[in-house]
Amino acid sequence: RTSGLQEGLNTQRRLTRQVKTTRKYHKSRLELLIQTWVSRAKEQTYIFTDGEDKELRMRTGVNIINTNCSAAHTRQALCCKMSVEYDQFIESQKKWFCHVDDDNYVILPSLLQLLSTYHHSQDVYLGRPSLDHPIEAAERVKSDGSVSVKFWFATGGAGFCISRGLALKMSPWASLGNFISTAEKIRLPDDCTIGYIIEALLEVMLTHTHLFHSHLESLQKLPPDTVLEQVTLSFGGFENRRNVVSIVGGFSLSEDPTRFKTVHCLLYPDTHWCPKLQHH
Ligand code: UDP
Ligand code: MN
Repeated sequence: RTSGLQEGLNTQRRLTRQVKTTRKYHKSRLELLIQTWVSRAKEQTYIFTDGEDKELRMRTGVNIINTNCSAAHTRQALCCKMSVEYDQFIESQKKWFCHVDDDNYVILPSLLQLLSTYHHSQDVYLGRPSLDHPIEAAERVKSDGSVSVKFWFATGGAGFCISRGLALKMSPWASLGNFISTAEKIRLPDDCTIGYIIEALLEVMLTHTHLFHSHLESLQKLPPDTVLEQVTLSFGGFENRRNVVSIVGGFSLSEDPTRFKTVHCLLYPDTHWCPKLQHH
Protein backbone atom coordinates (compact mmCIF):
# COMPACT_ATOMS: atom_id res chain seq x y z
CA ARG A 1 0.00 0.00 0.00
CA THR A 2 1.41 3.37 -0.95
CA SER A 3 0.71 6.52 0.97
CA GLY A 4 -1.29 9.42 -0.44
CA LEU A 5 1.91 11.45 -0.64
CA GLN A 6 3.68 8.76 -2.62
CA GLU A 7 0.74 8.47 -5.00
CA GLY A 8 0.77 12.23 -5.42
CA LEU A 9 4.46 12.12 -6.34
CA ASN A 10 3.85 9.28 -8.79
CA THR A 11 1.04 11.15 -10.50
CA GLN A 12 3.23 14.25 -10.64
CA ARG A 13 5.98 12.39 -12.48
CA ARG A 14 3.49 10.85 -14.91
CA LEU A 15 2.00 14.10 -15.99
CA THR A 16 3.13 16.67 -18.53
CA ARG A 17 2.11 20.28 -18.44
CA GLN A 18 2.36 21.71 -21.93
CA VAL A 19 2.27 25.48 -22.20
CA LYS A 20 1.53 27.25 -25.48
CA THR A 21 3.25 30.59 -25.89
CA THR A 22 4.70 32.89 -28.53
CA ARG A 23 8.00 34.78 -28.68
CA LYS A 24 6.49 38.18 -27.91
CA TYR A 25 5.01 36.89 -24.63
CA HIS A 26 8.22 35.37 -23.22
CA LYS A 27 8.90 38.46 -21.08
CA SER A 28 5.39 39.62 -20.27
CA ARG A 29 3.73 36.27 -19.56
CA LEU A 30 6.09 33.30 -19.54
CA GLU A 31 8.56 34.75 -17.04
CA LEU A 32 5.75 35.03 -14.48
CA LEU A 33 4.80 31.38 -14.96
CA ILE A 34 8.43 30.30 -14.66
CA GLN A 35 8.76 32.33 -11.48
CA THR A 36 5.60 30.75 -10.05
CA TRP A 37 3.99 27.37 -10.81
CA VAL A 38 6.39 26.14 -13.52
CA SER A 39 9.29 26.35 -11.03
CA ARG A 40 7.52 23.67 -8.96
CA ALA A 41 7.48 21.17 -11.81
CA LYS A 42 10.24 22.09 -14.27
CA GLU A 43 10.98 18.56 -15.46
CA GLN A 44 7.35 17.84 -16.35
CA THR A 45 6.61 21.18 -17.99
CA TYR A 46 7.24 21.85 -21.67
CA ILE A 47 6.92 25.28 -23.21
CA PHE A 48 5.95 25.34 -26.89
CA THR A 49 6.94 28.54 -28.63
CA ASP A 50 7.80 29.90 -32.05
CA GLY A 51 11.17 31.58 -31.61
CA GLU A 52 14.58 30.93 -30.08
CA ASP A 53 15.31 32.27 -26.60
CA LYS A 54 18.58 30.66 -25.50
CA GLU A 55 18.97 33.23 -22.76
CA LEU A 56 15.69 32.22 -21.11
CA ARG A 57 16.48 28.52 -21.41
CA MET A 58 19.96 28.95 -19.90
CA ARG A 59 18.88 31.27 -17.09
CA THR A 60 15.82 29.29 -15.97
CA GLY A 61 16.56 25.71 -17.04
CA VAL A 62 13.02 25.14 -18.33
CA ASN A 63 12.20 22.88 -21.27
CA ILE A 64 11.52 25.20 -24.18
CA ILE A 65 10.58 23.66 -27.50
CA ASN A 66 10.82 25.78 -30.60
CA THR A 67 8.04 24.40 -32.78
CA ASN A 68 9.20 26.38 -35.82
CA CYS A 69 5.51 27.16 -36.32
CA SER A 70 4.60 30.62 -37.53
CA ALA A 71 4.26 33.32 -34.86
CA ALA A 72 1.01 34.57 -36.39
CA HIS A 73 -2.21 34.25 -34.42
CA THR A 74 -3.84 32.17 -37.13
CA ARG A 75 -5.63 28.85 -36.99
CA GLN A 76 -2.82 27.25 -38.96
CA ALA A 77 -0.10 28.50 -36.60
CA LEU A 78 -1.99 27.51 -33.45
CA CYS A 79 -2.84 24.07 -34.86
CA CYS A 80 0.79 23.62 -35.84
CA LYS A 81 1.78 24.16 -32.18
CA MET A 82 -0.91 21.78 -30.91
CA SER A 83 0.32 19.16 -33.35
CA VAL A 84 3.89 19.47 -31.96
CA GLU A 85 2.49 19.32 -28.40
CA TYR A 86 0.63 16.13 -29.20
CA ASP A 87 3.62 14.43 -30.82
CA GLN A 88 5.88 15.43 -27.94
CA PHE A 89 3.40 13.99 -25.43
CA ILE A 90 3.17 10.66 -27.27
CA GLU A 91 6.95 10.44 -27.33
CA SER A 92 7.24 11.33 -23.62
CA GLN A 93 5.70 8.10 -22.28
CA LYS A 94 3.86 10.21 -19.68
CA LYS A 95 0.37 9.24 -18.56
CA TRP A 96 -1.46 12.57 -18.72
CA PHE A 97 -1.37 15.34 -21.32
CA CYS A 98 -2.43 18.65 -19.78
CA HIS A 99 -2.40 21.67 -22.05
CA VAL A 100 -2.53 25.27 -20.81
CA ASP A 101 -2.01 28.74 -22.25
CA ASP A 102 0.64 31.19 -21.06
CA ASP A 103 -2.00 33.18 -19.14
CA ASN A 104 -2.95 30.22 -16.94
CA TYR A 105 -1.83 29.48 -13.39
CA VAL A 106 -1.91 25.73 -12.69
CA ILE A 107 -2.67 24.82 -9.07
CA LEU A 108 -0.64 21.63 -9.03
CA PRO A 109 -2.05 20.05 -5.83
CA SER A 110 -5.62 20.43 -7.18
CA LEU A 111 -4.62 19.05 -10.58
CA LEU A 112 -2.99 16.01 -8.99
CA GLN A 113 -6.02 15.43 -6.80
CA LEU A 114 -8.39 15.65 -9.76
CA LEU A 115 -6.37 13.26 -11.93
CA SER A 116 -5.98 10.77 -9.09
CA THR A 117 -9.72 10.05 -9.40
CA TYR A 118 -9.23 8.71 -12.95
CA HIS A 119 -6.95 6.15 -14.56
CA HIS A 120 -4.69 7.04 -17.47
CA SER A 121 -5.68 3.88 -19.35
CA GLN A 122 -9.34 4.98 -19.37
CA ASP A 123 -10.62 7.40 -22.03
CA VAL A 124 -10.54 10.70 -20.18
CA TYR A 125 -10.97 14.19 -21.67
CA LEU A 126 -11.33 16.78 -18.92
CA GLY A 127 -11.95 20.49 -19.27
CA ARG A 128 -14.26 23.43 -19.20
CA PRO A 129 -16.82 23.58 -22.02
CA SER A 130 -16.39 26.95 -23.71
CA LEU A 131 -20.07 27.30 -24.59
CA ASP A 132 -23.24 26.20 -22.78
CA HIS A 133 -24.24 24.14 -25.80
CA PRO A 134 -22.39 21.83 -28.18
CA ILE A 135 -20.85 23.31 -31.32
CA GLU A 136 -22.15 22.23 -34.73
CA ALA A 137 -19.82 21.72 -37.69
CA ALA A 138 -20.00 20.21 -41.14
CA GLU A 139 -18.69 16.64 -41.08
CA ARG A 140 -15.81 16.67 -43.56
CA VAL A 141 -13.66 13.86 -42.20
CA LYS A 142 -15.99 10.85 -42.14
CA SER A 143 -18.31 12.23 -44.83
CA ASP A 144 -18.44 14.92 -47.54
CA GLY A 145 -19.66 17.88 -45.48
CA SER A 146 -23.34 17.48 -46.33
CA VAL A 147 -24.17 16.33 -42.79
CA SER A 148 -23.30 18.13 -39.59
CA VAL A 149 -22.03 16.90 -36.24
CA LYS A 150 -22.57 18.33 -32.79
CA PHE A 151 -19.87 18.04 -30.14
CA TRP A 152 -18.56 19.64 -26.97
CA PHE A 153 -15.00 20.85 -26.64
CA ALA A 154 -12.89 22.10 -23.76
CA THR A 155 -11.82 25.71 -24.14
CA GLY A 156 -8.04 25.83 -24.64
CA GLY A 157 -7.74 29.08 -22.69
CA ALA A 158 -8.79 27.29 -19.50
CA GLY A 159 -6.58 24.25 -20.07
CA PHE A 160 -7.61 20.61 -20.54
CA CYS A 161 -6.24 17.14 -19.80
CA ILE A 162 -6.29 13.98 -21.88
CA SER A 163 -5.35 10.50 -20.60
CA ARG A 164 -2.68 8.55 -22.43
CA GLY A 165 -5.17 5.84 -23.34
CA LEU A 166 -7.34 8.35 -25.16
CA ALA A 167 -4.42 10.28 -26.65
CA LEU A 168 -3.17 7.08 -28.33
CA LYS A 169 -6.57 6.53 -29.94
CA MET A 170 -6.42 10.04 -31.40
CA SER A 171 -3.30 9.18 -33.34
CA PRO A 172 -4.83 8.64 -36.85
CA TRP A 173 -6.17 12.22 -36.78
CA ALA A 174 -3.60 13.89 -34.56
CA SER A 175 -0.10 12.49 -35.00
CA LEU A 176 2.68 13.59 -37.31
CA GLY A 177 0.91 16.48 -38.97
CA ASN A 178 -2.47 14.79 -39.21
CA PHE A 179 -3.77 17.22 -36.61
CA ILE A 180 -3.18 20.11 -39.03
CA SER A 181 -5.02 18.40 -41.87
CA THR A 182 -7.93 17.42 -39.58
CA ALA A 183 -8.23 21.06 -38.42
CA GLU A 184 -8.07 22.26 -42.02
CA LYS A 185 -10.84 19.88 -43.06
CA ILE A 186 -13.28 21.07 -40.42
CA ARG A 187 -11.91 24.66 -40.46
CA LEU A 188 -11.98 25.07 -36.70
CA PRO A 189 -9.39 26.24 -34.14
CA ASP A 190 -7.04 23.89 -32.29
CA ASP A 191 -9.14 23.36 -29.14
CA CYS A 192 -12.31 22.70 -31.18
CA THR A 193 -10.37 20.22 -33.32
CA ILE A 194 -9.31 18.31 -30.19
CA GLY A 195 -13.00 18.14 -29.17
CA TYR A 196 -13.99 17.08 -32.67
CA ILE A 197 -11.50 14.20 -32.74
CA ILE A 198 -12.47 12.99 -29.27
CA GLU A 199 -16.24 13.50 -29.24
CA ALA A 200 -17.24 13.27 -32.89
CA LEU A 201 -14.71 10.76 -34.23
CA LEU A 202 -13.88 8.64 -31.18
CA GLU A 203 -17.26 9.08 -29.47
CA VAL A 204 -15.72 9.74 -26.08
CA MET A 205 -17.49 12.43 -24.07
CA LEU A 206 -15.88 15.50 -22.56
CA THR A 207 -16.00 15.37 -18.76
CA HIS A 208 -17.21 18.88 -17.90
CA THR A 209 -15.38 20.47 -15.01
CA HIS A 210 -15.70 23.96 -13.61
CA LEU A 211 -12.35 23.80 -11.86
CA PHE A 212 -10.63 25.10 -15.03
CA HIS A 213 -10.86 28.84 -15.74
CA SER A 214 -10.17 31.21 -18.61
CA HIS A 215 -10.51 35.01 -18.79
CA LEU A 216 -13.66 34.54 -20.88
CA GLU A 217 -15.55 34.23 -17.59
CA SER A 218 -15.77 36.75 -14.78
CA LEU A 219 -12.94 35.65 -12.51
CA GLN A 220 -13.91 38.05 -9.71
CA LYS A 221 -16.99 35.91 -9.18
CA LEU A 222 -14.99 32.96 -7.87
CA PRO A 223 -15.48 32.93 -4.08
CA PRO A 224 -12.08 33.86 -2.56
CA ASP A 225 -12.12 30.87 -0.20
CA THR A 226 -12.37 28.47 -3.16
CA VAL A 227 -9.63 29.96 -5.36
CA LEU A 228 -6.89 27.59 -4.15
CA GLU A 229 -9.11 24.57 -4.81
CA GLN A 230 -9.42 25.38 -8.53
CA VAL A 231 -7.22 23.61 -11.07
CA THR A 232 -6.41 26.49 -13.42
CA LEU A 233 -6.77 30.27 -13.16
CA SER A 234 -6.27 33.02 -15.71
CA PHE A 235 -6.28 36.80 -16.05
CA GLY A 236 -7.86 39.27 -18.45
CA GLY A 237 -6.10 40.73 -21.44
CA PHE A 238 -4.70 44.24 -21.73
CA GLU A 239 -8.05 45.90 -22.38
CA ASN A 240 -9.58 44.14 -19.37
CA ARG A 241 -6.72 44.07 -16.87
CA ARG A 242 -9.09 43.83 -13.96
CA ASN A 243 -10.51 40.44 -14.85
CA VAL A 244 -8.54 38.63 -12.16
CA VAL A 245 -9.39 36.41 -9.22
CA SER A 246 -10.13 38.25 -6.01
CA ILE A 247 -7.70 36.98 -3.46
CA VAL A 248 -5.93 38.86 -0.69
CA GLY A 249 -2.37 38.16 0.30
CA GLY A 250 1.09 39.65 0.36
CA PHE A 251 0.88 41.68 -2.86
CA SER A 252 -1.24 44.67 -3.84
CA LEU A 253 -3.04 44.83 -7.18
CA SER A 254 -0.29 47.05 -8.59
CA GLU A 255 2.50 44.73 -7.36
CA ASP A 256 0.68 41.67 -8.65
CA PRO A 257 -1.86 42.66 -11.31
CA THR A 258 -2.53 39.05 -12.40
CA ARG A 259 -2.82 37.78 -8.75
CA PHE A 260 -0.62 34.81 -9.72
CA LYS A 261 2.14 35.77 -7.24
CA THR A 262 -0.42 36.12 -4.46
CA VAL A 263 -1.89 32.70 -5.24
CA HIS A 264 1.60 31.20 -5.42
CA CYS A 265 2.62 32.58 -2.01
CA LEU A 266 -0.57 31.29 -0.40
CA LEU A 267 0.17 27.84 -1.81
CA TYR A 268 3.94 27.89 -1.18
CA PRO A 269 4.70 30.46 1.57
CA ASP A 270 8.30 29.20 1.85
CA THR A 271 9.21 30.57 -1.60
CA HIS A 272 12.17 32.92 -1.12
CA TRP A 273 10.54 35.96 -2.77
CA CYS A 274 7.23 35.64 -0.88
CA PRO A 275 6.56 38.27 1.78
CA LYS A 276 7.36 36.89 5.22
CA LEU A 277 4.26 36.15 7.26
CA GLN A 278 3.59 38.83 9.86
CA HIS A 279 2.93 37.64 13.38
CA HIS A 280 0.43 39.74 15.30
N1 UDP B 1 -0.54 32.77 -28.96
C1 UDP B 1 0.28 32.23 -29.91
N2 UDP B 1 0.57 32.98 -31.03
C2 UDP B 1 0.10 34.24 -31.18
C3 UDP B 1 -0.74 34.78 -30.17
C4 UDP B 1 -1.04 34.01 -29.08
O1 UDP B 1 0.73 31.09 -29.78
O2 UDP B 1 0.38 34.85 -32.19
C5 UDP B 1 -0.85 31.97 -27.78
C6 UDP B 1 -0.65 32.74 -26.48
O3 UDP B 1 0.68 32.69 -26.09
C7 UDP B 1 -1.61 32.01 -25.57
C8 UDP B 1 -2.75 31.58 -26.50
O4 UDP B 1 -2.20 31.61 -27.83
O5 UDP B 1 -1.02 30.86 -24.98
C9 UDP B 1 -3.96 32.49 -26.42
O6 UDP B 1 -3.56 33.82 -26.64
P1 UDP B 1 -4.21 35.05 -25.89
O7 UDP B 1 -4.34 34.74 -24.43
O8 UDP B 1 -3.41 36.27 -26.25
O9 UDP B 1 -5.61 35.18 -26.60
P2 UDP B 1 -7.06 34.66 -26.21
O10 UDP B 1 -7.45 33.74 -27.34
O11 UDP B 1 -6.99 33.95 -24.89
O12 UDP B 1 -7.88 35.89 -26.14
MN1 MN C 1 -5.83 34.13 -23.16
